[in-house]
Amino acid sequence: MQLSALPSAGPAIRPSTLPILDQRLRGTKFVSLAPRSILNSPQATGMDFWSINPYVGCEFGCTYCYARYAHRYVVERAHDAGRLSDAELREFRGAHGWEAFEQRIFVKEHVLGALDADLRRYFRSQGPSVRPPAPIVIGTATDPYQPAERRFQVTRAILERLARYEGLSIGIITKSPLVTRDLDVLRRLAARSDLEVYVSLITVDARLIRKMEVRSPLPAVRLRALARLTAAGVNAGLIVAPVLPGVTDDLPHLEALFSAARAAGARFVHAGPLRLYAGIRDRFLPVIETHFPELAARYARAYARNASAPREYAQALERRVQRLQAKFGLPVNSGMEDRYRTTRAAPQADLGL
Ligand code: SF4
Repeated sequence: MQLSALPSAGPAIRPSTLPILDQRLRGTKFVSLAPRSILNSPQATGMDFWSINPYVGCEFGCTYCYARYAHRYVVERAHDAGRLSDAELREFRGAHGWEAFEQRIFVKEHVLGALDADLRRYFRSQGPSVRPPAPIVIGTATDPYQPAERRFQVTRAILERLARYEGLSIGIITKSPLVTRDLDVLRRLAARSDLEVYVSLITVDARLIRKMEVRSPLPAVRLRALARLTAAGVNAGLIVAPVLPGVTDDLPHLEALFSAARAAGARFVHAGPLRLYAGIRDRFLPVIETHFPELAARYARAYARNASAPREYAQALERRVQRLQAKFGLPVNSGMEDRYRTTRAAPQADLGL
């Protein structure tokens, strides 16, 4: 999924070798990382909340994913520290500089000591007057329930530890039904802290998903997971990010998502437009050229100067989403979608990218 700012550049790597933990037939390697810190502060990421990403890299391979930047940073630091040879650097970056994000997954192992230390720092930063405390969001840059989690269970261990604390505000963002494996921990967490689970889905169209996301779970699977979460009493909803201009921003597309979310018992639906950072243009724009050639020039123009969608477009989309939130009886402009808040009135019929 995408949020409004670049992810934290990633953890420092300790001076040792990079052990390969596992290797899959499809070529993915899982590499151990022992970070000194796992809870990223708002100052480190530029986002308005604290964040945790148990993995660096993500096998789901969404073509619009901005987190490739953080993966490259971790790989280049390992090379600079002498822990990757030149040949390994080439392998860990891939021919175009973005493939390795999907195929060389760093697993943040043994993080609970770091998390405890980070939480002491977090509580000190909040002070007695800051109530409720700033949110901690898990999965801002990579999916915490990507395939690696099935084996390594880093996310589960982090949630178990957070469940010992009281009065936190925790958000989890995922595209994976694996989140339902942890219903027991989520219930414990929700008993002592505020919890929101954001199931990320950009369209209910399975064929379109496969053009945009290489290995992510199909829409029906994610919606079933959402239904299981809400049926179990978890405060869960849908996050539609990014909305792809000219591809998924039309009313039928968005209505289908809202309708499916409602049927799954979603407590909220939030949405925000595509942000096209420099590091992902080479990955994403060819996908548009291949599948939507009629939009290629419009994308190139709209994102020529900025990573963000043009202001008028973002405003129009926000109004469209607000109308749908109201129509489907969901909260209008509350919670995480405030990240996308804009201020001016917008045209109604045509989003005008
Ligand atoms: S699931 Fe999220 S982190 Fe993984 S590739 Fe897709 S957008 Fe990136």
